[in-house]
Amino acid sequence: MEVFSITGIELDSVCIAKRLHVVDKGLVRRLTESVKAVIAPAAAFRISYVDERLDDSVVIDGMRFTSRVLYDNLDGVGRVFPFVLTLGKTLEDVIAATRDMLEKYLLDEIGNMVLYEARGRFEQHLRTTFALEKISCMVPGSLENWPIEQQRILFNLLSGVESSIGVSLTESCLMIPRKSISGIYFPSEITFFSCQLCPRERCESRKARFDEAKALEYGIHQRNPLRTTA
Ligand code: SF4
Repeated sequence: MEVFSITGIELDSVCIAKRLHVVDKGLVRRLTESVKAVIAPAAAFRISYVDERLDDSVVIDGMRFTSRVLYDNLDGVGRVFPFVLTLGKTLEDVIAATRDMLEKYLLDEIGNMVLYEARGRFEQHLRTTFALEKISCMVPGSLENWPIEQQRILFNLLSGVESSIGVSLTESCLMIPRKSISGIYFPSEITFFSCQLCPRERCESRKARFDEAKALEYGIHQRNPLRTTA
């Protein structure tokens, strides 16, 4: 397993204040600085290979993942990159110790933004290191079709992730520290977003529009009889 330390994340407190609709820029600047001082973003990942695809499941380095969407997405794909990325434990401790509810909320939101940036840098690292033009990612638990319980298999595949970057799984498959993300990156001709298959109406993290035709194509969605088609 390889560990990639993520450096050079820039946090612009003015932009953050704007995005969070906070007028007190001094407060956001102070909180942004405190986040900057405690984060230790790192990703643990493996260069893995698809052994076989069968019956809506995919075997990667001997570990079987069950998901029709993953099965479809890895059609013709040989090499994949299972990963876990975290901002580290100290930020969690700082958020937990903060009594002021507004500050707690803002620290949490700033943490989410840093996580997003860190993920972008990790993606870039994979692209340049492995000469990949386009890559996509699937995250266990982001779709009903790839439930969160499959995190256990991912963590088995990435055994040693706790000792290398300090991320563990709870009984209910949530990651500790919370500001962590896991999944599998894979090369793709067209960028795939789980959001394209997710009909949830209100989600601030949506990265792509729900695509009913695509969801039908993957066989994970039933046409809504009340929805009119153009
Ligand atoms: S729309 Fe939101 S809930 Fe649905 S997959 Fe995208 S980020 Fe997740």
